Amino acid sequence: MTNPLLSHWDTPFEIAPFDQISDEDFASALDQALAAHNAQIDAIASNPDAPTFDNVIGALETPCQALEQVLSVFYTVAGADSNPKRQELQRAFSPKLAAHSSAITANKALYARIKAVWDQRDELDLTEEQQRVLMLTHRSFVRGGAALEGAEDARMQEIKGRLAILGTEFTQNLLADESNWFMELSEEDLEGLPDFAIAAARAAGKEKGVDGPVVTTSRSIITPFLQFSPRRDLREKAFQAWAARGANGGKTDNREIAAEILALREERAKLLGYENFAAYKLETEMAKTPEAVRGLLMDVWGPAKARADADAVILTEMMQADGINGDLEPWDWRYYSEKRRKIEHDLDEAELKPYLQLDKMIEAAFSCANRLFGLEFEPLDIPLYHPDCRAWEVTRNGEHMAVFIGDYFARGSKRSGAWCSAMRGQAKFPEKQAPVVINVCNFAKGDPALLSYDDARTLFHEFGHALHQMLSDVTYESISGTSVARDFVELPSQLYEHWLEVPEVLSEFATHAETGEPMPKEMLDKVLGAATYDMGFQTVEYVASALVDLAFHDGAAPADPMARQAEVLAEIGMPHAITMRHATPHFAHVFSGDGYSSGYYSYMWSEVMDADAFAAFEEAGGAFDPERAKALEENILSTGGSKDPAELYTAFRGRLPGVEALLKGRGLAAE
Ligand SMILES: [Zn+2]
Repeated sequence: MTNPLLSHWDTPFEIAPFDQISDEDFASALDQALAAHNAQIDAIASNPDAPTFDNVIGALETPCQALEQVLSVFYTVAGADSNPKRQELQRAFSPKLAAHSSAITANKALYARIKAVWDQRDELDLTEEQQRVLMLTHRSFVRGGAALEGAEDARMQEIKGRLAILGTEFTQNLLADESNWFMELSEEDLEGLPDFAIAAARAAGKEKGVDGPVVTTSRSIITPFLQFSPRRDLREKAFQAWAARGANGGKTDNREIAAEILALREERAKLLGYENFAAYKLETEMAKTPEAVRGLLMDVWGPAKARADADAVILTEMMQADGINGDLEPWDWRYYSEKRRKIEHDLDEAELKPYLQLDKMIEAAFSCANRLFGLEFEPLDIPLYHPDCRAWEVTRNGEHMAVFIGDYFARGSKRSGAWCSAMRGQAKFPEKQAPVVINVCNFAKGDPALLSYDDARTLFHEFGHALHQMLSDVTYESISGTSVARDFVELPSQLYEHWLEVPEVLSEFATHAETGEPMPKEMLDKVLGAATYDMGFQTVEYVASALVDLAFHDGAAPADPMARQAEVLAEIGMPHAITMRHATPHFAHVFSGDGYSSGYYSYMWSEVMDADAFAAFEEAGGAFDPERAKALEENILSTGGSKDPAELYTAFRGRLPGVEALLKGRGLAAE
C-alpha cells in the first residue's frame, strides 16, 4: 500500500488527507523523504554541467515534494494535537533533521557550485529576486562555515558541538533550580490573594507533594503572589529565590557556562571573519549593526526610566502610608503597583468577557482584511486533523488566494501559546502554489466561546502573520510569506493588533453575547487605558535585559559576565526597585540557544515599527485608508524576504521608523 504522506494529494486544494494518515506512516515516510532529498542534493552537487543559476540555485529552490508533505503534516499534528506516539517520533526526528541540514551545509561540492554561481553573479542577468535568493543562499552557507577548510573547519565543528551541549546544560540547570525551590504557605499566608492565585498555589503544593499551598518560581505563580500578598517578608523571600535562579552555586550554577558560551560565540564569529558575535548575528537582521540596536534602545530608555522614577515616588508614598519606612524594593513594586492599578483602572474581566465572543472576533478579523485588502472568506467543509479545526477558502475578486485554517480551542494535546504556520507556502516556482495557512490558539471552549481582551489581541496577532503568508506574491518559496529577518517578522502581526482597538471595529463586533448590545464607551476607554498601565516598569525591565544582551556580544566576550552586567546597569542608571526581566544566570533567550542572542532587542524593534506603521494610517485619515492599505500590501505583506527589510519599510513609510509613536502608545511620551 502506498504511504498517504508520500502520494499525490488528490483533495480539494491539495490539503493533506488527514483522515487517511495514521501515526504509523510517519517514520518510514520521513526516511523515504530524506533519501529523496539527499538524492536531489547529490544530483545538484555532482552535476557535470557548468554551474548556472538554474542548475544550482533553481534546483535547490525546487521543493522536495515528499519532504515538504511529511514535515508539514507532522509539525502540524505534533504541535497542535500530540500524543505519546507523536512525542516519541518527535524525539527521533529532531536529531535526524538536524544532521540532515548540517550535512547539506557541510557538502563541499555543493558549496563549490554555489560559490561559482555567486562569483559570476554580475554576468548572469538575474532578476532582482534571483539576485536576492542567490545572496541569501550563499550567505547562509558561508555563515554555517561551508567556506572553512582544514583546522578552522574542524574547530568550527567543535565549537558548534560544545555550544549545543552548553545550551542544553544551561536550560537543565535552570529547570532544576526552578523545580527545586518552593515556599510553603500557611492558610493565613494566603491573605489578600485572589481565588485564581490560591487555586494555583494549592495545585502547585499537590504537585510538590506537600499538604498545603506553595509559591514556586513559575512566572504564573510568583507574579500574582508578588502582586497581591501583603506579607512583605514573604514577598522578599520569594523574590530573592526567583532572582537567584541559575546562581545558587554548586552543580546547577549557570554563571561559568554563560562565560564559556560567550567566549565560544566570539571565537566562532571571528573564524567567520566578523569583528564580534553581535556583528555576525545582526548582519542578517533589519537592524544590521550593534550601533543601530543600541540607538533604538537608548531612545526608549530615557523616557521609560523617567516614567519609572516618577512612578517609584508614588509607590514609595503608598508604602510609607502603610507604615513601612525606607526604600521601595524590587519585592514591593508589583504589590503597590497593583494597589494603584485598582484605584486608577479597575476593570472587571468578568464584565468584559461577554462582549468578546470568539466567532464575532473571527468575523472582525476577516472584516478588517476585507476592508483593507479586499479578501473574502467562505467556510470550507474538509476533513482536518481535529474536529475543532475550521477552514475557509480565501478569495479576492473571485480568484483563489489561500486556504485559512483556525484551530482555536485549548486541549491537553496542544502545546501552550499561539502560533501561525504555513502548511504550504506561497510560490510561483517551479509552478504556482497557493498557501495553506493555519492559526493555532489556546482559548477556553464555551457556548458561546468568550475571550479575554488578551485572547482577542492574540487572535488578531496570529491573523496578521496569516495575512503575511496569504498575501505573499513572490517567485521562490524560500523567501515567501514570513521568511524574513527575525526583527521584521513580528511587524505584520503586531501591526494587525491595532485594528482590534479601532472604535468602529469594537462597536460593530464587540457585542454582548446575551443582549447583543455594543460594548459601552466607558468600558472601551477602561480597556484601552489599562493596556498602557505600568509601562515605565515593563519597559525598564525589558530594555535593561536587551542592553545587557547586546553588551555581552558587542566587543570582547567578558570573562566575568556578572561583573559586566553590573557595569551596564550602573552605566544606564537602573532604578533601585526594578531588576532585569531576565538576569544573566537565567536568561534562557540568550543562553539556551542562539535564537535571541544579541537579538532580545527584536521585540522592541518590532513594536517601534508597528506603532510607527499604524500611525501612518492615522496620519493619512484613518485605520482603513485605502492608499495606505495598498502601500502596506505592496511593500510589506506581499514581498516576503525578497528585499532588505529596511528598504521595504522605507518604501511603505517614506522613511525608517521613529520611536515617537511607540512612546505615545506606551504612555511614555513627554507631556
Ligand atoms: Zn508573532
